[in-house]
Amino acid sequence: MSFDTLGLAPALLRALADQGYATPTPIQSAAIPVALSGRDMLAGAQTGTGKTAAFALPLLQRLFVENATAPANGKRKVRALILTPTRELAAQVHDSLRAYAKHVKMFSATIFGGVSMGPQVDALRRGVDVLVATPGRLIDHMERRTVDLSGIEILVLDEADRMLDMGFLPAIKRILAVLPKQRQTLLFSATFADEIKKIAAQFMRDPAEVQVAARNSVVATITHRVHPVEAARKRELLLHLLAQDSRRQTLVFSRTKHGANKLADFLEKYGLKTAAIHGNKSQGARTKALKEFKDGKVTVLVATDIAARGLDIDQLPIVVNFDLPMVAEDYVHRIGRTGRAGAEGLAISLVAQEEARLLRDIRRMLKQDITIENVAGFEPARPLNLENPGPAPGRPAKPRNSNHSRRPHANGPKKPHAVANKQKRQWRGGKPASFKA
Ligand code: AMP
Repeated sequence: MSFDTLGLAPALLRALADQGYATPTPIQSAAIPVALSGRDMLAGAQTGTGKTAAFALPLLQRLFVENATAPANGKRKVRALILTPTRELAAQVHDSLRAYAKHVKMFSATIFGGVSMGPQVDALRRGVDVLVATPGRLIDHMERRTVDLSGIEILVLDEADRMLDMGFLPAIKRILAVLPKQRQTLLFSATFADEIKKIAAQFMRDPAEVQVAARNSVVATITHRVHPVEAARKRELLLHLLAQDSRRQTLVFSRTKHGANKLADFLEKYGLKTAAIHGNKSQGARTKALKEFKDGKVTVLVATDIAARGLDIDQLPIVVNFDLPMVAEDYVHRIGRTGRAGAEGLAISLVAQEEARLLRDIRRMLKQDITIENVAGFEPARPLNLENPGPAPGRPAKPRNSNHSRRPHANGPKKPHAVANKQKRQWRGGKPASFKA
């Protein structure tokens, strides 16, 4: 299938060709025609499936191709609002939106915390058509009356499940309360918890449902591998693995900010160009670390879950879990950083016996076997026991909801996008879409 069959306007097809996209991803094939029809839509799609284009393209077409309007009294009104859980995702969605809007006339801005209000207020005053925002900062603007949402025609809730996990439900409800009732609402979520269904029932009109992959399934092109190791020898093992190809860009996840710092210092000491990115780092430091990683100046990026959410790094071949995440679903989000857009990916986890319970939970959730493979010289004294795993380390296994430390503290990265890679990119991953209208 090609993009031409989806009913997209030539200006958008040209932008896709500029990006080097040859084939629509399953979520794009399923969602674009529905969204173009103007219907509300609940779309189930995990990170890395091409979901941004799945809502951005129809949004651009409906507002700026089919209903391009001149701004009244010379002042633009915000016509579309895209809400995302994190600053990184907001910045990334914005970058993608602008790339897809390359050949249409559209003014857009991002609104997120951690940076000063001034430039955002200025942009809003000058007038924008599309806003990409995180809920908290948007509420700040609503309270100061620096944003007018009365002209919204399309609302997109991106990664809605994440927004709920991060405690944004009250904020979302406040925002929804001021939006015009006559609008199209597109909700994207990796999972459809009851809360999401409730929002849909309350704030959407007879939404079509589009689903492309089973709940919590992960991209098929990713290989999962576990290396059992004593906790005290993890650093050494990581160094050993990284040393096998020191030029290969690797994203390493650490459970704690302190752990991320210590690990980055250790790797740096052994000559690997390393940076750490987590919530205690300043906005500037985070943006710089990410840029250097994307530019290839830094080969190892050590990140905590929050800092890494929403990062899109083209063709990242390896993700290493130095610690397993406390919540099994975070594993999916972590490894969603590799194997994107059909590329092959490898997810390596260094697992000590103390984490056996977490590994068992992850295996259950993935419904997929993970290869457990000793690395010669690093075998633990006793083999990993998943049958009798013992308690999970530290905290209880379900520290979800109302956990404010999960809120991000970062500015968004610049997405390198496909610009560097002009050759045609063929979508290979993912399952065929099913579609229920
Ligand atoms: P997303 O899920 O929107 O974050 O997209 C994940 C990655 O897939 C991004 O790097 C996109 O640029 C890329 N992408 C999106 N659609 C396509 C496509 N049809 N063909 C190739 N790559 C794509």
